[in-house]
Amino acid sequence: MRRGEGGIRTLGSLLGYGALAKRCFRPLSHLTKFNRGWEYRRELSIANFNCQLIKSGMISEEEARSRILEKISPLQERAVPLASALDCFAARDYLARLPLPAFANSAMDGYAVVASSCKKGRRLHVIGEQPAGPDRNLRLGGGEAVRIFTGAPIPQGADAIVMQEDVTRDGNDISVNVDVEPGEFVRRRGCDLAEGQMILAKGDRISAAKLAVMASQGFPDVIVGGKITAAVISTGDELVKPGEELQAGQIYDSNSVLLDALLRRCGVSATTVEHCRDDSQALNAAITRGIRNNVLIISGGVSVGKHDLVKQSLVQSGAKIEIWRVAVKPGKPFLFGNAGECFAFGLPGNPVSAFVTFLQFVRPAILRMMGATNLDLPEVPATLTIDLTNDGDRPHYFRGRLEHGRFTPVGRQESHALFGLSRSNALLRVPPNRSLKAGDIIAVQLWD
Ligand code: AMP
Ligand code: MG
Repeated sequence: MRRGEGGIRTLGSLLGYGALAKRCFRPLSHLTKFNRGWEYRRELSIANFNCQLIKSGMISEEEARSRILEKISPLQERAVPLASALDCFAARDYLARLPLPAFANSAMDGYAVVASSCKKGRRLHVIGEQPAGPDRNLRLGGGEAVRIFTGAPIPQGADAIVMQEDVTRDGNDISVNVDVEPGEFVRRRGCDLAEGQMILAKGDRISAAKLAVMASQGFPDVIVGGKITAAVISTGDELVKPGEELQAGQIYDSNSVLLDALLRRCGVSATTVEHCRDDSQALNAAITRGIRNNVLIISGGVSVGKHDLVKQSLVQSGAKIEIWRVAVKPGKPFLFGNAGECFAFGLPGNPVSAFVTFLQFVRPAILRMMGATNLDLPEVPATLTIDLTNDGDRPHYFRGRLEHGRFTPVGRQESHALFGLSRSNALLRVPPNRSLKAGDIIAVQLWD
């Protein structure tokens, strides 16, 4: 039986065991003939899994990831103005040097009052005005009010604000139409943030709101992790740049734009994105240029075909290949090595393989270089909407849509199926030889 890469089947179907058994060392096919129990079959298949990997020259996904991350350390940190720090990673812990609010101030446009003398029906005399801005050092007592505006410092003696909508103005007096409690519409000093509290931790991604908190503390700049330079090379004689005319047998290069965009999502803008033919000389030259960067990402040409020249070209350019072929679906031919200071990632040309291997291996490496502490894609629990089986020998990343807490695989689950990928927003990793049922609670990875 030959099965496609699709792999979505109903739980009831046991047809996959035959295929699995053929792939294991120890013949397991006899087990499938009797119902000896799912657990027993699973244990045997897991035991055989590692042996299989060794025999096939693959390493596990976990090993690949830890071997990559072992090699990589954060780049030299630098100070950048706040305006340039969005999506960088903090290289220091930052503590609040001011409380927030820094002084007690009004939450409303209205009148500052003494609550005990501000009851429904009372008349108060307005003795002055305090707008937002320099403190006029006004002082008031019972029976008095100060006209005040949002963000203005609370005058001495006042302990509440009555909204302007709740009073009737009459010359220099107001009559109050509500009972006022102490503390009403007063923003107390430090009620949001106390001096000395951590506002940004080393390794945190700097979001728009975190930038704003840094600004609120008067920091003009922030020390962040190093800036990465990255080059992208898409290989393949069949590739044509979008906008140009296609000849028979040619396809448009979609990985260049995909990888460039994924890099941007990590906060890196590629220095060069170039196409290279399946030609040793051209590839050697492109790689020589590419390895001047911290990161070189090459798509296509990493498999075992006659025209897959990337591995040999990298070696000819002085690179040491650390990893080639990982037990992951899609993405098996993934390659990782380094040439001097440059880390080179060879991603399979099939767009979904390039996408998955970028997110699982390249993204964490880049984030570590940039000084991030959390290298994982965000994961959220979801309810699976259909039965799903991975009867293969590699963990399979299913592409699907997460909507309202429910995950549904979308499109063809094959490594070339770019349209399905474009309709998805989450990945579900299903380990080898695992069946999931509709209704199961699963963890899915988000990337968008
Ligand atoms: P390769 O990894 O070079 O063997 O390519 C595997 C498959 O991916 C082939 O069908 C290629 O045509 C396709 N492919 C390779 N590079 C790209 C690219 N840049 N854009 C779109 N498809 C590609
Ligand atoms: Mg190719």
